[in-house]
Amino acid sequence: MSGHYDVIVIGAGVTGLSSAWWLARDGLRVLVLDKGTVGAEASSRNGGGASHYQSPLFAEEQRLWPMMDDLLGYPTEHQAERVIIATDPHDLDHYHFVADMCDAMGWRVDRIDGQTARAMVPIAGDNCLGGIHFRFGGHANPQRTVQAFAWALQDLGGRILQHCPVLSIERTGGQVCAVTTPQGRFSCGALVVAAGPQIAGLLAPIGIDVPLMAGRAEMIVTEPMPLMQLGGVDGNGLYGRQTLRGNLAFGGGPHEWIETRPEGVRARPTTPLSRGLARRVAELFPKAAHLHVIRSWAGIIENTPDGRPVIDRIDNLVIATMSGVGFGLSPATGHAVRDLVVDGQCSFTDIAKLSLARFAGLAPDWREACGWLSLSAA
Ligand SMILES: Cc1cc2nc3c(=O)[nH]c(=O)nc-3n(C[C@H](O)[C@H](O)[C@H](O)COP(=O)(O)OP(=O)(O)OC[C@H]3O[C@@H](n4cnc5c(N)ncnc54)[C@H](O)[C@@H]3O)c2cc1C
Repeated sequence: MSGHYDVIVIGAGVTGLSSAWWLARDGLRVLVLDKGTVGAEASSRNGGGASHYQSPLFAEEQRLWPMMDDLLGYPTEHQAERVIIATDPHDLDHYHFVADMCDAMGWRVDRIDGQTARAMVPIAGDNCLGGIHFRFGGHANPQRTVQAFAWALQDLGGRILQHCPVLSIERTGGQVCAVTTPQGRFSCGALVVAAGPQIAGLLAPIGIDVPLMAGRAEMIVTEPMPLMQLGGVDGNGLYGRQTLRGNLAFGGGPHEWIETRPEGVRARPTTPLSRGLARRVAELFPKAAHLHVIRSWAGIIENTPDGRPVIDRIDNLVIATMSGVGFGLSPATGHAVRDLVVDGQCSFTDIAKLSLARFAGLAPDWREACGWLSLSAA
């Protein structure tokens, strides 16, 4: 196999697929290459949260999500709004601080007392002190969403090659001209690299340093229970959602830091993190503590030193790695990547804060400074 494409996208996660879909909407010939299958890594394993009020892409995230099912033509199971409840007074103070911040940005947040919180989240217990209710944000089904992006891309003529790892990137005169895979060499007018935590290993050979630390996080899923008024509930260090079938799907707690080059690391729930998650769920939702955990999984999260994504263009190469907030931001990220590829700059917000150049001069021991030691180092 070989061929020429206007744009090649490395990575069929939610970032790469959204980018490819936006580019295909412009009539460009797009090829997505993935070493595995569509969305098989963090993109299908996450909590589905879409309320990233600290991101420059936030307003676009909020604008796009309610439209995504119609735009894609396939369901994402997007549900609007979110509630965060507290069982600890310090947490409640922090949530009120978050509410003040969102108020200042013009996004409505209601402060709710314990009684109101228990009415909204009937599995909360007497230990619930209240919380905040985001009148924005929400969540969607990660597995459905990646599939929706993939089908919508294919409907527009985009091509996805699975089990096709990119082994190297070719450049001539500073411009990317092709990628090499075991299935052949593909040439392109522009390249988007959206390879999640593997991005650093892919770009290092062409002299681009992306400082990333990979962290393993886990999710647990309970048996179904009756649907609550709002499926998106956070608190007690947890993030998650109730699925439309009624299961509680929750993650949270500390990451387990692993090697910078995550190739070969198995994303399996083999650690005490699952037990810790079950304990946190039982503390936050005492009236659901009897539910059986029926599934668990792990995923690898890409983390930059300041916790913000990198979305940047270097000549005809665009880099997008999302530092743990990639699912919710995906509709907006794809739009930004499309703008960078086609117009050279983002049309709807200032993404200077997401540039790779902000890490120039980063101290070599930044991982230790962040307290992010790898398992082997620890
Ligand atoms: C447990 C957990 C909970 C999370 N919760 C949330 C949440 O609630 N909200 C939120 O917004 N985010 C959340 N995240 C983070 C979010 O899942 C990620 O930021 C997002 O999925 C990143 O998507 P991506 O497409 O950039 O990367 P990935 O999903 O990692 O996809 C990268 C793709 O690139 C492919 N690839 C890598 N190397 C190559 C190569 N050499 N050749 C070809 N293909 C290659 C991989 O196979 C993979 O399919 C969570 C993550 C985890 C693990």
